[in-house]
Amino acid sequence: RVKDSGRDGYCKFSQDLSEAVDERLALENALRHALREEQLELHYQPVIDMEQRRIVAVEALSRWRHPERGLIPPDCFIPIAEDTKLILPLGEWVARKAIGQFRSWRDQGVMLDCVSINTSGIQLFRPGFVEGLLGILKEYGVEGRHLQIELTENVLMQDVEVCRAVLTRLRDEGIRIAIDDFGTGYSSLAYLKQLPIDMLKIDRSFVSDVPDDPNDCAIVEAIVALAYSLDLVTIAEGVETDAQEFFLRQMGCHRLQGYRYSRPIAAGEFADFVKGFPWGGFP
Ligand code: C2E
Ligand code: MG
Ligand code: MG
Ligand code: MG
Repeated sequence: RVKDSGRDGYCKFSQDLSEAVDERLALENALRHALREEQLELHYQPVIDMEQRRIVAVEALSRWRHPERGLIPPDCFIPIAEDTKLILPLGEWVARKAIGQFRSWRDQGVMLDCVSINTSGIQLFRPGFVEGLLGILKEYGVEGRHLQIELTENVLMQDVEVCRAVLTRLRDEGIRIAIDDFGTGYSSLAYLKQLPIDMLKIDRSFVSDVPDDPNDCAIVEAIVALAYSLDLVTIAEGVETDAQEFFLRQMGCHRLQGYRYSRPIAAGEFADFVKGFPWGGFP
């Protein structure tokens, strides 16, 4: 996980635990305990469609509510979960929780097109991954088209052939596939035509300095142009300001996500947020 080591800086929690005698075991045990004791939560961040001017989707983001240490962000525990394979039960928990939540929002009249979940390579390459998701969808009576999977470029590059097989099966079920943090991984662009991808999520690092930084403007413009010609939907991540929104809209970016609209919030709050949107002032 190239990007996550450092982007959000120093991870106090894992640093503390690294000082334990057997750091890996300590973390693994703590996380295993967290899963069992239901200390994990999902927070939800809305995705706004520029043309429809409404919230079309929501991204589910994991948090660990530690009894002593408070809310721990995913960059501090997802890498450990991946190393220890705990990402498998964790990922399944995320899928069940997010899909179940989507179901209950629908039942409450909160109509979103889809819920998006972040997915690690370990999950994707695990035999039975697709069946597992389909089982959960069926359990909650949610159609595949309401689910979106976010993968990073590095995951896709691990094994393009296997990816193609798995992604094609997801696609056949209507499940959508987004490339997360697009532009930050080690990848070739060739996979974009080899794999059944639906969306590119433009990484926050390119969005944060538009419209002031001409290089970032050029990169965003190029990504949007590429996406248009390949018939992919673009989502800008990390939109915080009016000026960024204005620029991205002008570029023709389809969807925006970021603190400008909402931070990731708890499920209950999210329903109210959707009902109140668009607030006064949003064009
Ligand atoms: P991501 O999927 O790229 O998610 C976007 C991250 O940017 C989230 O951080 C979100 O809170 C943050 N963000 C959103 N809008 C803004 C903004 O306007 N400004 C700033 N500064 N930040 C913004 P978070 O929730 O800490 O998640 C970090 C990463 O952890 C995620 O990046 C994703 O790669 C990973 N992750 C989170 N939940 C899961 C999960 O359930 N499974 C897996 N495999 N990975 C997860
Ligand atoms: Mg994501
Ligand atoms: Mg991202
Ligand atoms: Mg990410």
